[in-house]
Amino acid sequence: MTDCIFCKIARGEIPANIVFNGPNVTAFRDINPRAPTHILIIPNQHVADIRDWNAYGGVLNEMFQTANQVADMEGLSESGYRLMFNYGPDANLTVPHLHLHLLGGRPLGPMVMPG
Ligand code: AMP
Ligand code: ZN
Repeated sequence: MTDCIFCKIARGEIPANIVFNGPNVTAFRDINPRAPTHILIIPNQHVADIRDWNAYGGVLNEMFQTANQVADMEGLSESGYRLMFNYGPDANLTVPHLHLHLLGGRPLGPMVMPG
């Protein structure tokens, strides 16, 4: 999608702190990190949100695989981490390109996080 910010990051058209860039999936650091590690894992092809999860069959598997590999790279395999999708206004979805949040590096507290 031409105007989508995460499509542009996946294509390398705008800068991002990329930690993994594969043929189907890209992972990059969140610009407004809510934890010492806050990385977004996205499909390179545009998928609007998690309700469209079956677009590009198999990409969700790769997203989870990448999330776990990146978590290992960040040294989080022992301390733990959180993987999260937002959907809709109550969850504060702001970017309409599917993204899996990887959060870790501190105790994350209960599931509902402020901000
Ligand atoms: P969500 O609220 O689930 O839609 O999360 C979108 C996330 O994208 C937020 O945590 C933003 O900080 C992050 N974000 C927005 N623009 C960028 C960008 N250009 N580079 C990195 N992260 C971004
Ligand atoms: Zn997109």
